[in-house]
Amino acid sequence: MKMSCLLSPTLREDPSEAEVASHRLMLRAGMIRKLAAGVYNYLPLGYRVIYKVSRIIRQEMNRSGAQELLMPTLLPREIWEESGRWGVYGKELFRIKDRHDHEFCLGPTHEEDITSIARDSLRSYKQLPVNLYQIQTKFRDEIRPRFGIMRCREFIMKDSYSFHSSEESLDKEYKNMFDTYCRIFDRLGLKYKVVEADSGAIGGGFSQEFMVLADTGEEEIFYCESCGYAASRESAGIGEYAVQKNVGQGLVPCREVKTPDKKSIEEVSAFLKIKPTQMIKTLIYETEKGAVAALVRGDHDVNEAKLKKLLGAEDLRLADEKVIEKITKAPVGFAGPVGLKDVKIVADNVVPTIEDGATGANRKDFHLTNVAYGRDFKADQVGDIRYAVHGDVCKKCGKGKFAVTRGIEVGHIFKLGTKYSKKMKATYLDENNKEQPFIMGCYGIGVGRTAAAAIEQNHDKDGIIWPEAIAPFKVAVVPVNNSDEEQMKVAEKIYADLSTKPELTGEVLFDDRDGRVGVKLKDIDLIGIPTKIIIGPKGLKDGKVEVKDRKTGNMRLVEIGRIQFQ
Ligand SMILES: [Zn+2]
Repeated sequence: MKMSCLLSPTLREDPSEAEVASHRLMLRAGMIRKLAAGVYNYLPLGYRVIYKVSRIIRQEMNRSGAQELLMPTLLPREIWEESGRWGVYGKELFRIKDRHDHEFCLGPTHEEDITSIARDSLRSYKQLPVNLYQIQTKFRDEIRPRFGIMRCREFIMKDSYSFHSSEESLDKEYKNMFDTYCRIFDRLGLKYKVVEADSGAIGGGFSQEFMVLADTGEEEIFYCESCGYAASRESAGIGEYAVQKNVGQGLVPCREVKTPDKKSIEEVSAFLKIKPTQMIKTLIYETEKGAVAALVRGDHDVNEAKLKKLLGAEDLRLADEKVIEKITKAPVGFAGPVGLKDVKIVADNVVPTIEDGATGANRKDFHLTNVAYGRDFKADQVGDIRYAVHGDVCKKCGKGKFAVTRGIEVGHIFKLGTKYSKKMKATYLDENNKEQPFIMGCYGIGVGRTAAAAIEQNHDKDGIIWPEAIAPFKVAVVPVNNSDEEQMKVAEKIYADLSTKPELTGEVLFDDRDGRVGVKLKDIDLIGIPTKIIIGPKGLKDGKVEVKDRKTGNMRLVEIGRIQFQ
């Protein structure tokens, strides 16, 4: 490709709307252009990256035994009513009506459609398992689209769905997809971690996320330095804390202290001149099984998903002011476990280890100090009910400690179970000729997001540093002076020769533009081409050219005709 013909409107200045590196650099390198909020054009350089990411995904999915198909974007309301999601999906679902007033949505995921395909086409257990995938445009009406193609309203995804007649078969395919995803992200040249995750809105059972590591990542990843277990902040399991045997012994009795208008942990601990780690935070929740007081250390946060699980509750929400006043006999901000009645008390594992604690006195403008677990109060249940923090003990091995890094979610694999097949009455006939709901798995990769995450992980002050496998071009040939006949002749020959090599056909960018070489090299670095071949007068004297590596900055002089790539 000759750069003089390439549509790559690079920008000298940082665009003001871009908050993250990938957004800024894709705009500056002329890879994407915004059409509307969260809606982007992929210009040729950007689309070459998307194409390469998709190609690797497609090759590995095909190798895994999955079959590619293509489902429509336009999905009728009826199948979404069957799954029950039309009513619960909310405003993120783009809904439209046709001229006959029939309602449709623009697909954000395709569980409904694929389940209807299975219902129509798979009759017998003998046809299972089957894994079907597509690479297609999805729609989600994000409340606040941001970060360029990282969080947008129209985006490209690979989604696949597997159908099984047994849990064992699902487990096997889940493992197959896990291995396939590892191969995909390895081939893309990205550093990543696989973390245990919360299933969220899609529901179902076990799930794992593939996270590309980047300091700028939106999400925290907790990983054990000893056993390698990794999990999102939501689901990182915390090991139990050893309770000191003599907690509370030898302490002065607990006493009430006036804390006028001091309600928050920060206010109270500052006022009492104690650390937040000495405070026992008390939150009142309502569940279908009754009210619950959840206790965590002052510097910790209750993880409602964990609390729900521990309680076996379906419905859990923070109690309103009235309920809190009824239970604690005090206004909001003064709740504590001492003397609390008519409510189940659930304490985090750490709470019994707090010596000399402070907490609300269940009385307006008062707190208690010198509180000891076991002496002044006891919990009905003790367990892991909070978000992990740096240094917490890993639950998996029970000895390693959590370190925290950041990442960007690019893939997610789920064991769905029968959630959709039961609701949509999608069944097959088993060995005994009995109808059974399909057991399902689903597996997604954000294609555009992966490209953006690759930039978040690989860039410097000069621009993008693409991993070789997904760089828009592999090599750039840059003559120092376009009006120098010899340089141009050598450059054109190198361009022509390299282009005949199968692995480089269509992968060589020839910077034939007029202008200063400094400007040209700046553009090539911004775009992130892995290798530059620079043809200048100094090298040519000895029949050599400069070959420079974008990532390391290493430069070597190579004889013309001996230029080689790995
Ligand atoms: Zn561990």
